Amino acid sequence: MKITFLGTGTSQGIPIIGCPCAVCQSSDTKDKRLRCSVQVEYQGKTIIIDVGPDFRQQMLRANTTYIDGILITHGHNDHIAGLDDIRPFNFLHEMDMPVYGQANVLEFLKQRYPYIFQGNYPGVPRVLLHEIDENSRPTLAGIPILPILVNHGNLPILGYRIGDFAYLTDFKTINDSELPKLTGIKTLVVSALQQEQHHSHATLEESLAFAAQVDAPMTYLTHLSHSMGTHEATAQLLPERIQIAYDGLVIKL
Ligand SMILES: [Zn+2]
Ligand SMILES: [Zn+2]
Repeated sequence: MKITFLGTGTSQGIPIIGCPCAVCQSSDTKDKRLRCSVQVEYQGKTIIIDVGPDFRQQMLRANTTYIDGILITHGHNDHIAGLDDIRPFNFLHEMDMPVYGQANVLEFLKQRYPYIFQGNYPGVPRVLLHEIDENSRPTLAGIPILPILVNHGNLPILGYRIGDFAYLTDFKTINDSELPKLTGIKTLVVSALQQEQHHSHATLEESLAFAAQVDAPMTYLTHLSHSMGTHEATAQLLPERIQIAYDGLVIKL
């Protein structure tokens, strides 16, 4: 399995132009984060988790020429605003793009992109919606997907396990009943927004506590806001076997 971090940032606390903070002023490429997304290549298939506002740029940057399907974690803008840009894949491969998400997320996509779902206007994106929840056991291009319920504050959203890899973004808490789904994973990706408390996102401390609880051989943090601090400074705060993900990071497991 090959994991490519397409984006490791967020629109939450999005930097304003000219922001004087250490992250925005940093010349370290690891401090330049597009919105949160990951590409999973597994058993000859390519799966994208979330299609945020930077999706097109991310596909160009990763040189991705084919996608077997898209898993959506939730309907917030930084995770779905790039859906329109699946069109090149539709045209190039004459395929409808499978998109998986919770019922409320798919409903929201229909409201947000009415032109995709109404009528047959030529040239619009073509998607095949698959409704899932934490009790579903879907397959995507033959690959078993395990949806995991995550609490994004009060909003129940989905994380995903694929093989021995689990991806939980916009995480605040998780119900104990979902923890067995993480048993035996080799790599955990979990979000950590900043060091200060936030009502719907885990702080660095909360994410580190969760990572310690899961105790995967390797954990990567993603969905960092610019108020977290620089990659270099934050890396000093982390225990062994936990690292900060950065855009373009590729891991193999
Ligand atoms: Zn969110
Ligand atoms: Zn988010």
